Amino acid sequence: MKRKLEPGRLVIASHNKGKIREIAALLGPYGIEPVSAGDLDVPEPEETGTSFAANAELKARFSADMTGLPALADDSGLCVEALGGDPGIFSARWAGETKDFGLAMELVEKNIAKRGPNVGRDAHFVCALSLCWPDGHIVTVEGRVDGHLVWPPRGDKGFGYDPMFRPWHHDITFGEMDPAKKHEMSHRADAFRKLVASVF
Ligand code: IMP
Repeated sequence: MKRKLEPGRLVIASHNKGKIREIAALLGPYGIEPVSAGDLDVPEPEETGTSFAANAELKARFSADMTGLPALADDSGLCVEALGGDPGIFSARWAGETKDFGLAMELVEKNIAKRGPNVGRDAHFVCALSLCWPDGHIVTVEGRVDGHLVWPPRGDKGFGYDPMFRPWHHDITFGEMDPAKKHEMSHRADAFRKLVASVF
């Protein structure tokens, strides 16, 4: 039997205010009141998983265990086919301590260039979402968006690797795209559609 998420408080296992605002807007219509893990003094566990799903699950489980409330966590990143899926779950870490995504994009580009002039430039973003109930029941879904990497990066509307990612069937990068349009077609939107279909 599918488990339904009842209206009420839901811990968002993230300290990122932007992410929490976005999730609040998506789940508000279902009577869900998002509370941030930060506001409940729940720390961020170490991301020791070897996949997006494993990391989302460990974060959701940790917050549900600590608070006794259902908890939602996500894990996302950019996977470059020519690099065997890198930076993947290490997407944030490739930007280093200073979170410099200009440098992270250069690193991606350098690694692609090392593979020769005819290397493919396909890539996709992945977003895993996990919802864990306090009794340990867990639902995990994964969304993705496929595209192509451009160089040099273009646009300043997005974040992270957006300026070098051009989704299929579009001439502009996520960095050049109106954020509302990106939010309709992103890996996160895909994952949320699957989660909503599964728990409401
Ligand atoms: P986390 O899921 O918060 O651990 O972050 C994963 C990293 O993946 C982010 O820091 C970004 O660098 C990258 N990433 C995830 N989603 C996006 C996106 O929509 N655009 C650009 N970069 C992204």
